[in-house]
Amino acid sequence: KEILVEVRDLKVHFPITRGVLFDRVVGHVKAVDGVDLDIPRGRTYGLVGESGCGKSTLGRALLQLTPPTGGKVTFDGIDLTRMPPNKLRGMRRRMQMIFQDPMSSLDPRQNVESILTEGLHAHGIGDSRDERRRLIGETLDAVGLPRWALSRYPHEFSGGQRQRIGIARALVLGPELIVADEPVSALDVSIQAQVVNLLDELQENLGLTYLVIAHDLAVVRHISDVVGVMYLGALVEEAPSDRLYTEPLHPYTKALMSAVPVPDPDVEDRRERILLAGDLPSPANPPSGCRFHTRCPWAQPTRCADERPELRPIGRSRVACHWAEQIASGELRPHSVDA
Ligand code: SF4
Ligand code: MG
Repeated sequence: KEILVEVRDLKVHFPITRGVLFDRVVGHVKAVDGVDLDIPRGRTYGLVGESGCGKSTLGRALLQLTPPTGGKVTFDGIDLTRMPPNKLRGMRRRMQMIFQDPMSSLDPRQNVESILTEGLHAHGIGDSRDERRRLIGETLDAVGLPRWALSRYPHEFSGGQRQRIGIARALVLGPELIVADEPVSALDVSIQAQVVNLLDELQENLGLTYLVIAHDLAVVRHISDVVGVMYLGALVEEAPSDRLYTEPLHPYTKALMSAVPVPDPDVEDRRERILLAGDLPSPANPPSGCRFHTRCPWAQPTRCADERPELRPIGRSRVACHWAEQIASGELRPHSVDA
C-alpha cells in the first residue's frame, strides 16, 4: 500500500504575545504538538476530536497553509516543509482543501464559471479557452451540477449545491489529495449523506486521497478507512474505522463513542456511559504527562501525570495510553462512572 502523505512529529505552536507592540512572547499555544500519521494513496483518513483539539490546524499545516513550527510533511515522497514558496505554489494544484462553509469561502461577486476559471488560470491549467471549458464541463458533471450553474452566483444555490461548487473548485485542478475540513457540518442532515456519497464516488472514480476532518464521528465513520482521534494537539488513538468504532481502546475514544447516539432504537444500548470530568484544558497550558489525565476515569497515580504516553501499536490500532491493555482486559476499572 503506497503512502501518499507522511506526517512526522508535526508541530504548530502559535506564540502568545503581549505588550503594546505584541512583541513580548509569553507562551505558546501548542495547537499541534508532535503528530505522526500516514495516509495511503486512494484512501480516506478521518480525523476527529472536539473543537479546539487542533484538527483543523493539522489539516492546514499538512497543506502548508499554516506553516508548521516543527516536524515534517512528505507528499508523494517530496518534503513540503523544506520547499521554497514558489515551488510550493506549483504543488498546490495536487493538494486542495474544501471548507465547512462554502458561502464564506466562495466570492459572492463571482459566478460559478469565473470561480472555476480563476483556479485554472492561477495554476496555468488548460492551453485554450475550449480546453478550460471542457475541464469545467467535466467537473460540473462529476459533482452533479447542471451547466446552467455556470452563469449563477453562490447565493443562488442551496447549501448542498454550494458545497458541490466548493468541491468543483478543488476538483477542476485535478488534485490527488483533498483535505476536507468539516465538509458537511453546515448542511442539513438530509443533505449531508448526499455530499458524503459524492465524495465517496469521486474517490472511487478518480482515485483521490482524502483527509476528512470532523467533530461528528458518524460522518467520518462511513467514508474513512482509518480514523485518528485528536486530543489537545496530539493523536491519542488511530485505528481502522470498523475497529475504532467497535473496540475503542483509548479512554478518550471510549468517552467519545459512548456519547454517540445508538443508531437503532430497538437495539438495547449496553455500552458504558463515560462522562468526562471538567472541560478541555487550554492548549497553551496542557496537563503534564498524559494530557488526558485531568479528565480520565482510568487515570493512575502517578505515572499518568508524570509520563507522556507514546502512540504505540496494539493490534491493528495505535494508542497513546500507558494502561490500554489493562483497560481493555477489564483489569483496571474506571474510578467513577456518573449516571
Ligand atoms: Fe488515562 Fe493514564 Fe491512559 Fe492517560 S495514560 S488515557 S490518564 S489511563
Ligand atoms: Mg475545526
